Amino acid sequence: MNDNDLEKTQKTLLKNTLAMYREGLIFGSWGNLSCKLGEDKIIITPSALPYDNLQYTDMVVVDLETGTVVEGKWKPSSELPLHLAIYKSRRDVQAIVHTHSIFSSAFAVARQEIPVALEELAQLAGGNIPVAKYALPGSDKLADNAAKTLGTESFGVLLANHGLITVGEDLEAAAQRSRVIERNAQVLLWSNLLGTPGLLEKEEVKELRRKFLYFYGQHK
Ligand SMILES: [Zn+2]
Repeated sequence: MNDNDLEKTQKTLLKNTLAMYREGLIFGSWGNLSCKLGEDKIIITPSALPYDNLQYTDMVVVDLETGTVVEGKWKPSSELPLHLAIYKSRRDVQAIVHTHSIFSSAFAVARQEIPVALEELAQLAGGNIPVAKYALPGSDKLADNAAKTLGTESFGVLLANHGLITVGEDLEAAAQRSRVIERNAQVLLWSNLLGTPGLLEKEEVKELRRKFLYFYGQHK
């Protein structure tokens, strides 16, 4: 890992953090993002700094195994244990986005999983978004609950009475899943006002996901 790679990753992390903040999915400093830096380190947003003044050099490099700060002038996000637990349990995950977005949080408070109502959620997540049991923010227990509920297949997990976690093969993918889950949650709640929402069947979700993976976009 050279300095250019570090700077590039710091800038990508800043860009995605500011996007989530400006879109209202993160508010104040409630919400955090991270991504892998090589095989044995991660880079994560700092703890409790106002995001509107955030610079790429504020991002903190942490050792994946020990959780100690390798580089950076600030304390890492207080949800560091949560990020580390997910990277350790899911080797496929390269990036994590944690938001306190309103409609996803409504499901997290109701402690109800988010079912698949929109095609884009089926395409990007391939299934319902489960809820991890409540535990104190920043605690090892929360990290453990979230990693276990995320399991080996899910791309998102709600934290009871707290917010949403999404994972991905890079920051853009994890951020886009966060947006799509939030839209799906919002549409479902509005749809409830009109009557009983019609949800996609498991087989329909599978088919949408498969078509998206293998036939969508510019595939030849
Ligand atoms: Zn949080």
